[in-house]
Amino acid sequence: MEMNNGEVHQPPFARCYASQLLRIDSGRGATVRDAAGRRYIDFTAGIAVNALGHGRRDLARVAAREMRRRIHVSNLFATEPAVRLAEELVASGPYDACYFGNSGTEANEAALKFARLYARRTRGEDHHRLVSFTNGFHGRSMGALSATATRAYREPFEPLLPGVEYLPFNDAKALESLDDRVAAIVVEPIQGEGGLDSVTDEFASALNERCRGHDILMIADEIQSGLGRSGRLYAGELTGLKPDIVTLSKPLAAGLPLSATLIPEKVNTLLSPGDHGSTFGGGPVTTAVALRVWRTIREPRFLERVRIAGERLAAGLERLSAAHPIISGGGKGAGLLRGVKLAVETDRAKAATGDIMAAAREHGLLILRSGADVLRFAPPLTISDREIDRGLERLDAALAAVERAHPEYTEPATGERTGVEVSR
Ligand code: PLP
Repeated sequence: MEMNNGEVHQPPFARCYASQLLRIDSGRGATVRDAAGRRYIDFTAGIAVNALGHGRRDLARVAAREMRRRIHVSNLFATEPAVRLAEELVASGPYDACYFGNSGTEANEAALKFARLYARRTRGEDHHRLVSFTNGFHGRSMGALSATATRAYREPFEPLLPGVEYLPFNDAKALESLDDRVAAIVVEPIQGEGGLDSVTDEFASALNERCRGHDILMIADEIQSGLGRSGRLYAGELTGLKPDIVTLSKPLAAGLPLSATLIPEKVNTLLSPGDHGSTFGGGPVTTAVALRVWRTIREPRFLERVRIAGERLAAGLERLSAAHPIISGGGKGAGLLRGVKLAVETDRAKAATGDIMAAAREHGLLILRSGADVLRFAPPLTISDREIDRGLERLDAALAAVERAHPEYTEPATGERTGVEVSR
C-alpha cells in the first residue's frame, strides 16, 4: 500500500472498490480538501448523501451530545430521538409506521419482506411476485439485488430470488399484464444509478391505477431521489406517484448510516414482533442527527432554494451542452440531481465518462456517473451559487481537455439501452 499525493494506492480494501482512491481529509460546504491540501468543488456529496454539506459543527454537536448520553440501546429499547423522528416521518404521508435500518439496501430489503408478508397473509402463498424496472437500482443485498434489473450487478451472485420480473421503465402498456399475484412493484421516481431517467406523468398514473386495482404494494425507492434532492420532499410528488411504501436513506442522517421504510397501516397491522429487525437501526445518534436534517429539509424555503439552485445548475449544463460536442443537450434529473448524456458511441461511453471524471478531478471538481453514459451531478443541497458556477467552469475546462485529448469521442452516439428480462 502507498499513500502519497493525496491518494492511496492498493489499500487493503476488498477489490470490489477501485485500487486507487483520493484521500479526503476535510470539507466545508460543498468544497472538500484532499490529504495533500488540494481543494475540490464537490458535485458528489458522498453519492447524494451529504445533503447539508461538509464540516457541519451543528450536526457534530448533536451527535456528540447523544454519544455522551448513550451511543446505542438496540431495538429492545427506545430513545426519544428515534421516536420523534419516526413520528415526523410517518406524518409526511399516508403511513402508519417507520422501520429503521442502516443503509439503502436494508430499507428496500425490509420493504420487499413486508410486501411478501402482506401478500401472503392477505391472498396466499402464490401471490409473491415482485416487479421492478430496467435501469433501476435498489441495492446489493440479495433481495434488493434481485430487484435490480441490470444483469451485470446480479450475474455473479445468481441464483437470486425467483419470481422477479423486470419490465421496461416508463412503458405503461407493460403493466397491463400485472394482477394480484404481484406482491409489490418497486420503482425509483428518478433512476439515480441507471441513467437519471424520471418516471413520466403517464407512467405514474398507470402505476397508481394498476397498484390500486390489484392491491399491489407500490414501493417508491426514494433513497437517492428523496428528502429534498429533487426540489420536492419526495421526487414522486413531481408526477403524482402514490406509493404505499417509501424507502429513504442516503441523506437521512446527512452522512451517518440510517434508513427508513415507511409503511401503511394495512401492512403494519400484519407484522408481529420478531418478523424483521436490526441491531443498529434507528440508534439515538443517527436519529438525533436525522431529526435535525429532516426539520431543515422539509421546510418549503429550503426546498425552494434547492429548486432555484437546481435550475442554475441545469442552465449551466445546457450552456455546456451547446458548447461541447462530447455531451448532448437535454439535461436529465430534477433539483440538485442532474445529469447530461454523453454524445459518444455506446461502446466508448464508459471510457469517456471515466476520462471526464478524471479530468474534472484534475481541474478541482468531483463528479459522478450514472449508468454508462451519463455524467451525474449531486452536490450538497446547501451549495452556494458561487460553488455551482465554479464547478461549472471547472467542468467546462475538463470537457475541453478530454475533447482535445480524444477527438475520437466526439462522433455521434448510436445504440439505446432497453429490453425485458426475467430472473431465473
Ligand atoms: N436504492 C437507490 C435508488 C440507490 O441509489 C442506492 C444506492 O446508490 C440504494 C438503493 C442502495 O443504498 P446503499 O448503498 O445504502 O445500500
